[in-house]
Amino acid sequence: MSDSSAIEWTDATWNPVRGCKKVSPGCKHCYAETFAERWRGIPGHPYEHGFDLRLVPHKLNDPFTWTRSRRIFVNSMSDLHQDEVPESFVTSVYQVMLKADWHIYQVLTKRAERMRQFVQAHDAELDLRKNPHIWLGVSVEDKKYGMPRIAHLRDIPAAVRFLSIEPLLEHLGPIDLSGIDWVIVGGESGPGAREMREEWVTSILEQCREQQVQFFFKQWGGVQKGKHGRELGGRVYDEFPSIQTGTAPRSAAARRRLHVIYDGLTAR
Ligand code: SF4
Repeated sequence: MSDSSAIEWTDATWNPVRGCKKVSPGCKHCYAETFAERWRGIPGHPYEHGFDLRLVPHKLNDPFTWTRSRRIFVNSMSDLHQDEVPESFVTSVYQVMLKADWHIYQVLTKRAERMRQFVQAHDAELDLRKNPHIWLGVSVEDKKYGMPRIAHLRDIPAAVRFLSIEPLLEHLGPIDLSGIDWVIVGGESGPGAREMREEWVTSILEQCREQQVQFFFKQWGGVQKGKHGRELGGRVYDEFPSIQTGTAPRSAAARRRLHVIYDGLTAR
């Protein structure tokens, strides 16, 4: 867990799962894979197994250690809803999010169908419509792989749904944003970054305005991202859904009593 993040739309990251497998063109230059593979074979490093999938049960309760409310990107180094993560572990992650409700959680997946199936199957205990501090989102990079994820997301019983349209790889055309609360758009960055055209971005902005959806422009990207900044048409778009969160119990003992126990696989 990191108490800060360079990702513009979040405050912190929490990774009770590490590692992932590529599923679509948006994964081509996965920053998480590049970072994780750098440490493969270094004994004792959290990523000594590179980008191989691993559960990290000892990280489960980390959100209870932060008393100040934060926006937390859940599994910035993985994808919680990939098939290989046992349902019991996914359930534990959601239990932590429900109990440590003074934070906002941003759960982003490319496995939209599995997220939908999981939340629908556990709707009675999760009741995400009444828990607006848990935001569910899908990645949308293109028409073929990304756009179908939106329909799955819309069918999920949740209070806040969002799209991360990054890396935006082509003009998406008309997008049905009904049931969507927030849209992030960004271009790819780093070596080999693929092009993103301004008209693709302004088309999404206009559709957000027409359909009353909050819009966040993350970055132009490019091989040297710092050179291009994040202004669109001369301004920065930093909009978020407006959500009230709870407050943390003041005593550490009270927070510890909320801890979630996971006694399945223990991977370290
Ligand atoms: S789904 Fe996300 S974390 Fe997994 S490989 Fe693709 S970009 Fe990387």
